[in-house]
Amino acid sequence: MDGLPPAFDSRTLEARLLDRRFGDVAERRSGAAGSRQRTLKRPIGCVGVGLHSGRRVELTIAPAPANSGIVFHRTDLGPTPVEIAARYDRVVDTRLCTVLASAARPEAEVGTVEHLLAALAGSFVDNAVITIDGPEVPVLDGSAAPFLFLLDCAGIVDQESPRRWIEILRPVRVTEGEGSVALLPAAAGAPLGLDMAMTIDFAASAIGHQDLALRLDPLSLRHDLAAARTFTLAAEIAHLRATGRALGGSLDNAVVVDGARVLNPGGLRMPDEFVRHKLLDAVGDLALAGAALHGRFVGRCSGHALNNRLLRVLFADPAAWREAGSSQATTPRPLVAAA
Ligand SMILES: [Zn+2]
Repeated sequence: MDGLPPAFDSRTLEARLLDRRFGDVAERRSGAAGSRQRTLKRPIGCVGVGLHSGRRVELTIAPAPANSGIVFHRTDLGPTPVEIAARYDRVVDTRLCTVLASAARPEAEVGTVEHLLAALAGSFVDNAVITIDGPEVPVLDGSAAPFLFLLDCAGIVDQESPRRWIEILRPVRVTEGEGSVALLPAAAGAPLGLDMAMTIDFAASAIGHQDLALRLDPLSLRHDLAAARTFTLAAEIAHLRATGRALGGSLDNAVVVDGARVLNPGGLRMPDEFVRHKLLDAVGDLALAGAALHGRFVGRCSGHALNNRLLRVLFADPAAWREAGSSQATTPRPLVAAA
């Protein structure tokens, strides 16, 4: 409990009430980030439409054993569920959202995984099975808030195994045009975790220049990122629809910007909702590392493609990372078995 103001340690009634009311604050300050793996207490599900396919899908998030990671199960492709590991090297498309495919059956895909993965990663959920009966995770309201609500309803439990961390040992960068992303080693003495910074620049003046920096943890996910919705430019919608995408998109699940105007009747949820969503996307995409990251992430005008390339560059260089933080084990080894 180091670093807490004295009032929190005095165990007065007020302090205990505060602890209970702001349990996630206490969790952050007690160093939960470095402790044990976590999964859901019980399964929980939802129904919705895919943003790009427009298809109705049913999704269930269920507990999973320690060290199994996040795995999707497509249940609509035959009598046996098709497994799709939520891992950077299973990414097959990043044009509008992040799409994963099964190694054994490449035609089995699951798309728009990033907001759900961000909710799981930011909540420090290491292991879960996500059962889905269609090719795309439901978009719901275009943010991660509904997924966070599901996790809250299900509850989260610690598991026996220590949390696995990937420590960034030296900088890796990917640049393309105006966009760039980098993973850098943590500052000396920094606690386990990922410090993140994002900058965006859009010609549309409703977005303009925005930047945001934060440390990823359950509290910052909940208060700074989860509610930020996906967004698009009005001028792009006709093109997307003509190419068979954004078929499930509406003002109920995306912010639509036309120059200086936000077309959604309710306006924005926060003035810098756009950069918050970009950072949320990065959290979801980086969750595909297969374990939590210890270091710093810096993004500029980045998107799913750059985020994924960054992980591929990182793991292609064994000198750029190692497993760290879990008990005494720091020996590099393959992240996960082939799936
Ligand atoms: Zn997004």
